[in-house]
Amino acid sequence: MKVHEYQARGLMEEAGIPVPPSEVLDSADQALAAYDRLGEKTVVVKAQVHAGGRGKAGYVKLVSSAQEAAEHAQRMFAEPMVSKQTGPEGIQVRKILMAGAVDIAKEYYLGIVVDRVRRVPVMMASAEGGVEIEEVAARDPDAIKKAWFHPHLGLQRFQANVLAAAIGLSGDKAKAAVGIMLKMAKLFLAKDCSLAEINPLIETPTGEILAIDAKFNFDDNATFRHPDVQALFDPHEEDAAELRAKEFDLSYIALDGNIGCLVNGAGLAMSTMDIIKLHGGEPANFLDVGGSVTTEGAVEAFKIILADEKVKAVLVNIFGGIAKCDVIAGALITAAKEVGFKVPVVVRLEGTNVEIARQMLKDANLPQLKPAGDLTDAAKQVCACV
Ligand code: ADP
Ligand code: MG
Repeated sequence: MKVHEYQARGLMEEAGIPVPPSEVLDSADQALAAYDRLGEKTVVVKAQVHAGGRGKAGYVKLVSSAQEAAEHAQRMFAEPMVSKQTGPEGIQVRKILMAGAVDIAKEYYLGIVVDRVRRVPVMMASAEGGVEIEEVAARDPDAIKKAWFHPHLGLQRFQANVLAAAIGLSGDKAKAAVGIMLKMAKLFLAKDCSLAEINPLIETPTGEILAIDAKFNFDDNATFRHPDVQALFDPHEEDAAELRAKEFDLSYIALDGNIGCLVNGAGLAMSTMDIIKLHGGEPANFLDVGGSVTTEGAVEAFKIILADEKVKAVLVNIFGGIAKCDVIAGALITAAKEVGFKVPVVVRLEGTNVEIARQMLKDANLPQLKPAGDLTDAAKQVCACV
């Protein structure tokens, strides 16, 4: 789960990480009052959307008057933000953060993710923070310093000291940065984050260290124990189809290809996507209906897949273990009636009650439905349809 920058700021403030003063706007007519409350000449107006690339899209603006702040706020609320990460239709801005501008002497990067190879969180720090951090990581990976820490022990002060020194900080600045790193690591563990990033962490000409942008993601499997984090969920930022899928306990992720996949089990879904690619196709989605799928859930899954106009064919790949093949076959027939199959649907069923299921599909006599022998046959057939 992702949250907005202003929400991440709230969490950082609670944790004692220094950030510039800020205000949050729901509409442009709040801009003048917010500017006055901040009481600073120069402020930064920042669109609050989950997509990145805001700066380059013109949705992070430094301004020096209330009038200018209001104009930019007006524009950002009115025109969807289009950036490299949004797609051509862009994304509607519903909140704006107005923050006091700070003089920047230097920009640093701090980030925590889970290192999946070592299976522990890793704190990363770089002296080359700012909007080009991805390029830095690609061009010069050694510019990113790392410290791995055990989730039960947390980041140790000596590790933070080493990192601070490695990115060129000393004296009081190092002390401030170490404090921020320790608080950030604590926050990461306490709230079950999957990502915590401060970019940039900045140094002012007078040697103050502040966080001026933050990005926090949370492990969806752990949000149940953090009602405060759940309360930060913004449904506007979710893909509508993914939200609908969630309501029915389906794991659905939209992808760029044209072959819809309806599969039970995440592992089987991964191998289905692999085999489609092996035979030259491109999956349009990842959809796992789960082990104990119901007719209702499967019908909804079909509706979601078929509502995607990119989908030119569907591969149904079900291994009936707990989910019985005849239930899936029933759902297929119901979905065909309710939704109508406008594209070919290749079906590979195996496992519990498969003979009953095959007979049901045969009797239903659905013209678009193409039974497959095994997984390879299914993948070849579906790829030939697009
Ligand atoms: P994004 O990462 O989405 O592009 P940032 O908040 O990191 O947005 O802003 C991009 C750049 O704008 C920063 O690297 C910094 O140089 C500048 N900036 C952002 N906030 C402030 C601020 N409060 N004061 C001064 N400059 C800022
Ligand atoms: Mg940033």
